[in-house]
Amino acid sequence: MEIKIVKEQRKSLLLRITSENSILVKAPLKCSDNSIQKFIDSKKSWINKHIAKMKMLDNFAKSFDFENLIYENTIPIMETKNIRLDYEKLSLANKLKSIKNQYLSMFSVLKERTIFLAQKFGFKVDKISSCSSAVKWGSYSSTGELKLNYKLIILPAILVDYVIVHELCHIRHLNHKPQFWREVERYYPDYKKARKEMKLYSFVLKTKF
Ligand SMILES: [Zn+2]
Repeated sequence: MEIKIVKEQRKSLLLRITSENSILVKAPLKCSDNSIQKFIDSKKSWINKHIAKMKMLDNFAKSFDFENLIYENTIPIMETKNIRLDYEKLSLANKLKSIKNQYLSMFSVLKERTIFLAQKFGFKVDKISSCSSAVKWGSYSSTGELKLNYKLIILPAILVDYVIVHELCHIRHLNHKPQFWREVERYYPDYKKARKEMKLYSFVLKTKF
C-alpha cells in the first residue's frame, strides 16, 4: 500500500483512497508523523472495505464484454438481430460507434417490453424514446415522455424490468417519496435488491459509446 502524505495549511486530517493500492493523507502543518500514523491505523478497516469494493467493481467491469451482445438471462431478442461485424478491421472509435448502432437498433425491444409492462400494470405511456446519459438509466417527464438509456439492452432482463417499472411509476408519482417506492414495490417486490445490483453496472453508463 502506497501512502502519500501531504502537509498543508489545513485544520483537520483527510484521507482519500486514490487507487486500489494507494491512499493520500492530507494533514495540518503541525501534525506529527506519529499522529498521522495513528489516524491511518484507526481507518484501516474502512480503507480495506473500500478497496475490496473497488476491486470487486473493477473485476466486474473487466469481465463485461461490450462486444458480445448475447447474455444469458437477458431479454431473448438476440436470435433475430444478431449482427456480425468484423471488429478486427475497425478502429476503436468505429468499434464503439458500431456497438452503439447495434444497441440502438435493438431499442425496439426495450420499447416493446415497456409497452408490455405498462399494459400489464395499467399504466398509460404517451411516448417512449431512447436517451444517452452517463448518469441515468431512464427518466420520465411531466410532458408524458418516458426515456430509456439504450445501454440498458446489455443489462440482465430482470434489471431492465426494474428500470422500466421505476419509470412507469413516475407516471403516478413525479418524485421519490415513500408513496413512489410503495408503488414500485407493488409491481417489483425485489426492488431494493435490484437497486443495489444496478450500482454494479454504473460503469456501463460511464463508458463512452
Ligand atoms: Zn426515479
